[in-house]
Amino acid sequence: MPESMIVSYFFAAVFGAVLASFLVHEYDNYGSDNKTAKLRSVCDHCGQQLNAHNLVPILSYIFQLGKSSCCKKRLSFKYLFTELVLAAFFVLCVYMGNLFSLGLIIPALILLALIDEKYQEIPIGLNIFIFIWVIANTSFIENLLFAGAVALFLLTLYWGYLKYRKVEGLGLGDIILLGSITLYLGFPNALYLITISASLLVLKIIASRRYQERHAFGSWIVLTFGAFILFQEFYGFAG
Ligand SMILES: [Zn+2]
Repeated sequence: MPESMIVSYFFAAVFGAVLASFLVHEYDNYGSDNKTAKLRSVCDHCGQQLNAHNLVPILSYIFQLGKSSCCKKRLSFKYLFTELVLAAFFVLCVYMGNLFSLGLIIPALILLALIDEKYQEIPIGLNIFIFIWVIANTSFIENLLFAGAVALFLLTLYWGYLKYRKVEGLGLGDIILLGSITLYLGFPNALYLITISASLLVLKIIASRRYQERHAFGSWIVLTFGAFILFQEFYGFAG
């Protein structure tokens, strides 16, 4: 293996691990008032200020033997797990020569799915990120008309539902998300995606028997979209 590839893998792994600790913190603190702390800075157990060496992804967990250095309590395994998974994922992206399309979208989709399941809302920042990613990664012009039609149809559904049932049947965040995805997939793949994700949501509602509650739809949309992208990438890579 050439030396330059080893360097690339190394930096990809570091990037993935750092991104993971950032995303875990974003998820844990989503919706909290503490908007200023963008990175983990205090101990989960005793609240003591952490040092830089306590925040080195993967390594600090290993060298501290899974315990906080201040109060010696067990650190959540989620840190090590997500850091390792994203580090490995970014190495795989470099191996496939696909760091900046695949590497940027998949973590964003997973974060969106987790936040939507927990709070039933899609952060506007993530929606904008996905839209920009679509614009950067596809020749979207040919899908513009179809995406516009889908968005218009969903908006009509949204207003109609709001007017007659006085509740939002579908979030505006979901509509923006589906608009971006339709721009990326085009006809007929976007229709397959909408059908599959809506069916998965219906199955979930039936399986959980929680018919009266609000359910997140965005999470099912992005998970299906992620599966579409991965299938496309690996199929293209193998074939
Ligand atoms: Zn502590």
